[in-house]
Amino acid sequence: MSFKQFNLHTQIEAGIQALGYTAPTPIQLQSMPAILQGKDVMGLAQTGTGKTAAFALPILQRLMSGPRKNVRALIVAPTRELAEQIHEAIGGLGRATKLKSVTIYGGVNKNAQIRTLGQGVEIAVACPGRLLDLADQGEIDLSHVEVLVLDEADRMFDMGFLPDIRKIVKRLPVKRQTLLFSATMPEDIRKLAREVLNDPLTIRVGAGVPVSTVSHALYPVEPHLKTALLMKLIERTDTESVLVFARTKHRTTRVADQMKRAGFPVASLQGNLSQNRRHDALSGFREGKYQILVATDIAARGIDVSGISHVINYDMPDTVDAYTHRIGRTGRAAKTGDAFTFVTPQDRAFVVDIEHVLGEKIERRTLTDFDYGVPAPAGSGDADRPRHSVGQRRPARVSGYAPVKKRGDSVHGAPRPSGRRSGTRSLEGFSAFRSSSKTR
Ligand code: AMP
Repeated sequence: MSFKQFNLHTQIEAGIQALGYTAPTPIQLQSMPAILQGKDVMGLAQTGTGKTAAFALPILQRLMSGPRKNVRALIVAPTRELAEQIHEAIGGLGRATKLKSVTIYGGVNKNAQIRTLGQGVEIAVACPGRLLDLADQGEIDLSHVEVLVLDEADRMFDMGFLPDIRKIVKRLPVKRQTLLFSATMPEDIRKLAREVLNDPLTIRVGAGVPVSTVSHALYPVEPHLKTALLMKLIERTDTESVLVFARTKHRTTRVADQMKRAGFPVASLQGNLSQNRRHDALSGFREGKYQILVATDIAARGIDVSGISHVINYDMPDTVDAYTHRIGRTGRAAKTGDAFTFVTPQDRAFVVDIEHVLGEKIERRTLTDFDYGVPAPAGSGDADRPRHSVGQRRPARVSGYAPVKKRGDSVHGAPRPSGRRSGTRSLEGFSAFRSSSKTR
């Protein structure tokens, strides 16, 4: 199978070649014929499947004919990182077409965005808030939009963007093509899809199941030993780029600082950073200046670094869906990757859920010459207390879970459940959990 079958414009084919794509991915094969015909599509696909090109290529093809310098395609994405990434993908695939795209998101000065819009662009890649701002101020004309893409719709829902999306849709011409992509399909997204899509073709590519090119392993560990284990594991493993997920902004900064002091080339990425520091962290990670990036889920949304060889869950994600999203950062487009997850005794029930979704048991590993018996420093009060009590099962497929922005550091303010100090906790359950472990 090659891209020839789509009869794309030669200038677009040149872009595909320049990016080194030789064959379409499954989502491209399944969705592009319908999108090229102008049909609405609902794609259940996670990041890493090639969904950006699946919508970008047909958009470029459509825009090759017709007027230029009007915004004719609008792509709405949850985060600025994802918006930048889509913009870059369009830039790469469409280099020879001379079609222009602009990114629109908050947290940066709007003048540059307004200037670019004034020069005339055909594609806008936008986060909802700033887009509405500019539309309200009359700085962007949405009356020529022919194609709307809602990318990572479930994340936009998590982040509380659904009302904004409805406002945006109201401003668009009724006669348009709409494409909606989402890794999961909670009821609110289904409802949105019913509202905005017209007789859509539904495509499902590996939805809800982590990319199969990734191998998974669990590292049982007591909470206070996580950072030491992380450093040892990275030292002992042959890695390219390593993306480490921690639960809160505070933990993200703390882990990165500890690693930096120990001499690791590490940066951190979390929502409180200035745009400059985010940019330094991301571009430094992409270019290899930092081999390790410690991030929160929300900050890591949309990170596309092709050489991510390892994703390490320093903290368990909150939901199986979030696990899937994190793991989607490695093993992208059929490259292989490893996903390591640190599990504390409190995470046990959640592991069962993940294994259920994966349909297999995940290998337990322990590191040789790592001292798992070091007690927690007295009064250390590590912040790794569970958000769910032991034995309380989180549902395997969670839809409509709490908005991500409501989590974050506020967890520190929550009352500490009694008897959960790591220094005093019994290790009994932990040993049982480790009994099936394999030493590495
Ligand atoms: P996405 O799911 O759109 O974020 O894409 C994941 C990664 O796959 C990106 O790095 C793309 O550049 C890459 N990619 C997309 N389509 C192809 C393809 N047909 N062949 C090889 N790589 C691809």
